[in-house]
Amino acid sequence: MLRENLHEVEEKIQEACRRAGRDRGEVTLVAVSKTKPVEMLKEAYDLGMRVFGENKVQEIREKYEALPRDVEWHMIGHLQTNKVKYIVDKVSLIHSVDSLRLAEVIEKEAQKHEKTVDILLEVNVAEEESKFGLRISEVLPLAEKIVQFPHIRLRGLMTIAPFVENPEKNREIFANLHELYVDIKEKNIDNGTVSILSMGMTNDYEVAIEEGATMVRVGTGIFGARDYSI
Ligand SMILES: *Cc1c(COP(=O)(O)O)cnc(C)c1O
Repeated sequence: MLRENLHEVEEKIQEACRRAGRDRGEVTLVAVSKTKPVEMLKEAYDLGMRVFGENKVQEIREKYEALPRDVEWHMIGHLQTNKVKYIVDKVSLIHSVDSLRLAEVIEKEAQKHEKTVDILLEVNVAEEESKFGLRISEVLPLAEKIVQFPHIRLRGLMTIAPFVENPEKNREIFANLHELYVDIKEKNIDNGTVSILSMGMTNDYEVAIEEGATMVRVGTGIFGARDYSI
């Protein structure tokens, strides 16, 4: 099942790139493996996947131990400041930075580990009450502060679009975030390190790619539906 799913996702990514006149190499696929057992991640690894997205600190810690070291772990979920210390040495990208306070803690922990941590700012483009993330107007002011932290590298922006039946409904949200991303890149506040636009999930990643995503986060489309009852 995994092989077929990955093949289908890959084809859809390629088709979306073609439609948008983009190169397939511009888009990174993150396999969102939250709630899925280690055996399934190993199967995906054997099929060539190297970038996995998780949203729980404890799950990253366990799976990190169980998989080969060349896996890149992405923290895509809300991150509590008191848990930063458990993952800062394990993840290659944190997608979900949405406050100065969180950035300060990441800076402190990164310094302890003598490493530089790559981060994205999470933007709640649709301003949904239920979601974490910055408002569009808050992004540039926070970015300008964060780029001064020596152990954090600002790599770009991320959004979780609303759940909609018809992915076309999210096109404008993706376009808006892309516009902000281009603005920030043009300001060159971080010496050209901003090159990641993380948007699009199983239901809407093709539209996101058409609107400029450089990273898509696909869970269900690769691993099947999640079971939260176990
Ligand atoms: C769960 C999750 C995904 C993947 O969702 P699917 O709809 O299963 O593809 C992507 N991004 C984030 C932040 C998530 O929490």
